[in-house]
Amino acid sequence: MKALVNKIIPFSAVDGPGNRTSVFLQGCNMNCRYCHNPETRKVCIGCGDCIEACPAGALFWMKDGNSRKVGYDPAKCVFCDTCIHICTHDASPRIQEMTPQETFDKVARQIPFIRGVTVSGGECTLYPEFLTEFFQICRDNGLGTLIDSNGTLDFKQYPELLAVTDGVMLDIKAFDETEHKTVTGISNGLVMENCRYLASLGKLYEVRTVVVPGLFDAEETVRKTAAMLRPYQKIQPIRYKIIAFRPMGVRKEYAGYPVPDSNLLESLAGIAREEGIGKVVII
Ligand code: SF4
Ligand code: SF4
Repeated sequence: MKALVNKIIPFSAVDGPGNRTSVFLQGCNMNCRYCHNPETRKVCIGCGDCIEACPAGALFWMKDGNSRKVGYDPAKCVFCDTCIHICTHDASPRIQEMTPQETFDKVARQIPFIRGVTVSGGECTLYPEFLTEFFQICRDNGLGTLIDSNGTLDFKQYPELLAVTDGVMLDIKAFDETEHKTVTGISNGLVMENCRYLASLGKLYEVRTVVVPGLFDAEETVRKTAAMLRPYQKIQPIRYKIIAFRPMGVRKEYAGYPVPDSNLLESLAGIAREEGIGKVVII
């Protein structure tokens, strides 16, 4: 069993409690207008455009059965991101297919310095079996386990995964279903179901909303999400992270939205607190 790994950040202080290693998997089933990592959305189609563009010779054709695919040599890569900028398919050639054990081997060297791992993406829950096995290995080695998700996996169907998961950091992109479709291209029915389900199990570590003025009604989303979570706060406190839209990395057709000012963010944080969220973080 393998997953496509986009990158592994050995130390992160922003992906959950304490110092953590963050693993980013490739591929996503939403199309958020404000996506900051569009190169994680799709899997490479092997057009080869990036091979010629790479100034370091880190990309090459390699055999793949009767076909061929793009190979990547991390030792030669100078991390100039030329390949990311040139790709018109929202993909990256700097992907490695890894088993759960191989992925853990990249985490193991940090063990004395980290509290746990967080798996993100793309949308990491596209690989539930990989996650289950990877988290089991992490747990066996004393590490905490968090999932960063858009909420489109039906978590009720994956009790084995939840059994080895400390918590989920869940994006609520918009409370209103029509607005959610505008922001992401798909309905939020399952996201909301997951939000309540995970909260009822004490497995919802945090919810987060990216605030993009003019794209959707952030006030309604924060108010209604916080109110929905109020009854569950006694099971386990759930924090709300309010994230300001920033245009860095966003595809150029969507980069023109304004950045929210601090007054708006503070007022949204106040609404979340009014509705019973004890811990609100603005970033
Ligand atoms: S990463 Fe993008 S540009 Fe490179 S081969 Fe794949 S699809 Fe083409
Ligand atoms: S980031 Fe690495 S693989 Fe991509 S173009 Fe630059 S050197 Fe080549």
